[in-house]
Formats: sequence, C-alpha cells, structure tokens
Amino acid sequence: MILILFAFQVQYGDNVYQFNSIPVQDLDYVSLKKLSEKLGCSMLYDSTYRVYTIQKAARITIVPENPFIKYEEKFIQLTYPVIEIDGEPFIPLCELPGILSLLLNSEFRLQGNNVVEVKKLNVLGFNIKVKSDETVATLKYDPSLEILFRGEDTLWVITIFDAIYNPDIFPTDGKGFIKRIIPRPGEGFLELKVITAPDKDVNIKKLDGKLKIEVREYRKKEIRTIVIDPGHGGKDPGAIGNGLKEKYVTLKIAKYLSAELKSMGFHVIMTRTDDTFLSLKERTEIADNARADLFVSIHCNSVRNKSYIAMHGTETYFLSVAKTDWARAVEATENSSIKFEGADVAQTGLKYVLWDLAQSQFLEESQQLAIDIQESIVDYCRTYNRGVNQANFYVLRVNYMPAVLVETLFISNPDDAKKLKDDVFLKRLARGIARGIKKYVESRNG
Ligand SMILES: [Zn+2]
Repeated sequence: MILILFAFQVQYGDNVYQFNSIPVQDLDYVSLKKLSEKLGCSMLYDSTYRVYTIQKAARITIVPENPFIKYEEKFIQLTYPVIEIDGEPFIPLCELPGILSLLLNSEFRLQGNNVVEVKKLNVLGFNIKVKSDETVATLKYDPSLEILFRGEDTLWVITIFDAIYNPDIFPTDGKGFIKRIIPRPGEGFLELKVITAPDKDVNIKKLDGKLKIEVREYRKKEIRTIVIDPGHGGKDPGAIGNGLKEKYVTLKIAKYLSAELKSMGFHVIMTRTDDTFLSLKERTEIADNARADLFVSIHCNSVRNKSYIAMHGTETYFLSVAKTDWARAVEATENSSIKFEGADVAQTGLKYVLWDLAQSQFLEESQQLAIDIQESIVDYCRTYNRGVNQANFYVLRVNYMPAVLVETLFISNPDDAKKLKDDVFLKRLARGIARGIKKYVESRNG
C-alpha cells in the first residue's frame, strides 16, 4: 500500500500542532494516538474489549468501526467511525472538530484542511450596507490585529496579519458599489480583495476593530482638513540642545500654525496639544481616521557631531526612498522615536512595502506641498534654504493624503536655536508654513 500523507494543523489555545493525515477510501484519517500525545490527552486501550478511552477536559470512549462514541455518560453517533490501520486507531478528519470540541470542552471548526478552535477566530464578520448614494462594507476583526490597506481605482487590497478567519463570513457576491469580495488566506495573513464600481470615491478607514470601506459617487474633493503633527512629546523629547527640547518647540510652532490655518478657514486637527507621547502609528491613524486632506509634521533638525555644529537652515521632506546620506541621517533620527514604542512596533519588511504602494499616488502632490511650504518659509522667514528632500519617515505613512515633514531649523546650531527660543520668530515661522499650505491649496482647489 502506498500512503500519501497530507499535512494539516490543529490550532488549540496558543499552539499550532502539525499532523499528517492518511487517505482511506475518500476520507482523510489521523492517528488518534499521535493526536492524544500531542494535545496532552491520556489514552488507555482495553485489549479485551478493543476499547480506547481518551481523556482531557472530558472522557470519550471509542470502539473502532463503531459509529457510536461514549462521551461522559452519553452516546453520540459519528457519521464516519474510527477505523484501525495496522492495529492503530485512526479518526476521520471530518469528525475531528466534533470530537475535539467534546474532549477539550471548547469549540472547533474545520477550516480548509485545518482544525481551529473557534474562540481563536479573529476575523469576525463582513457586511455590506447599500444606501442610495453610498455603499459601506464593514469588516470586523479582533482589534489587536495589524491591518493594512492599499489600492486604487476599482481594486482595493486589505491585508490582515495573523488572521484566523472563518471563510463563511464573506459574502460571495457584492452589493451596490461593491462588486466582489475575494478572500485569500496566506502564510500568516489574510488578503482580502475588494472590487468596487468604476469612477467612485473610495474611502477606507480603521476604527477600533472595524474597517469601513465607503464607496460613493465621485465628487471633487476640496482641501479643508489639515492635520498638524507636533513631533515627539512626553517621554520622547526629540532633539536636545542649546537649552531647548524639540518636543516643546514643535508644540509651540504647531499651535501658532493651527491658529494661522484656522484664520484662513481650514479645519485643523492636532495630533497632540500638550506634552503627551504618541506613537508614530497613532499619529498617522489620527490623520487617516479624520479623513484629513493634508498632513504636516513639525520638527527641528539637529546634528550630534559637534564638528557639524555650523549646519543650519530649513528643509522640508516628503516621503520616499532617501536619496542622499544626509536625508538618510535625518530619517534615522526622526524614525528613532519608534524606540519609545516598544520592540514589537519596530517592524519592517512586508507591511511597509505594502504601505509604500498605498502612498505612491500622493508622491507628486506631497512633493509639491513640500516645495510650496519650503519656499514660503525661506521667503517669509529669511532662513537658510536647505531645499526639499525625500526620506522614508514612518510618521509620513498616512493613507490617501499628501504628507510632509518640516525640519524648521537646527536646535544644534546656536543661531538657529536663538530663533527657536523667540516666540515672535516662531509665530512668523508658523505663518510662513501656513502661507505655503495656502498656496498649495489654492493651486489644487483652483
Ligand atoms: Zn523630530
């Protein structure tokens, strides 16, 4: 006999157990002995009566070839009985969820070829609501999951990391402006493709444990809401030098900037208004959830090496791959805020590769915004022009809006620091930034 073995998993508690199954007459079977060993059950064999007794949270008695099993004091009928192969008991894979549910006093479900404890499911629901001018799909998931989305036109891809989902929750057909939903489980993640109707405004936002995909009739979007992000805060002081801490300076500038922008008629959202610590991710989520139109992060530059103390002036960044060594150095400094967020946050790789795709459509607009702000500051505040640069700042990883980071002046340079201590100058700086934003908006809203 040639045995072809298939691997499958049992997900129970925090563990994943690997098993092989053996096909016998169209059904897949798994060794009861291996199962009880790995799951830590005790198994007894009574050779006189050919009875197997297996016990963990409950006790089950099994007689091979007999469809009835005894569970505590009750008899339960299986569709397919346990069989013996070479004198060893084997249980049909299709009966395994039911038997494990009894034995381990939990609820198990067959998912693909794997047996999963239901309470471990963390992708919980998906529904679509159709209104006259809007279709809204809501994906519900365990809020502890990392979720990421990208896409354009009619194809939107949602990636849910560490997803254990039940495929039954996804409708096979779309509704309204949502045409199709295609779930594709991968190694350690679930990818969900959502196909929307052409020529629609699609807005995706994350709420606590919910992802909403809103699809509306297309309308030209005016720039109204601007998120101002004062860099650093709380336990993360940012750059320190010449009697200044970056976190206080950025907050001051941000407050002045907020007042300027409000007086110009913009709606302003601040990521922080006091000396609080915010993770880089929290900052971008504020912008995404507010459905903001622009994101401006305020910082001060600095060099640690005393021999570069002369470096001074203003530079404005938009997000891209760092082009110069200097841009890479600034990128490393600002991204190092992540060290205040705990180890698990400092993830790289796949997540950020996916992210880059989401933001790439705003590269050009971010660059233009950076140019307008940079020119305006330099003109209005007479600071040294270090130009517009690109670097890969985590904090600029917002979705669906142009985003820039302003390195106002150098805290490490005595002359720049003197300006940064002067409230009159900071107000002027804020006005310079605001004027640049206004110029950008006027050319866009046209
Ligand atoms: Zn900074």
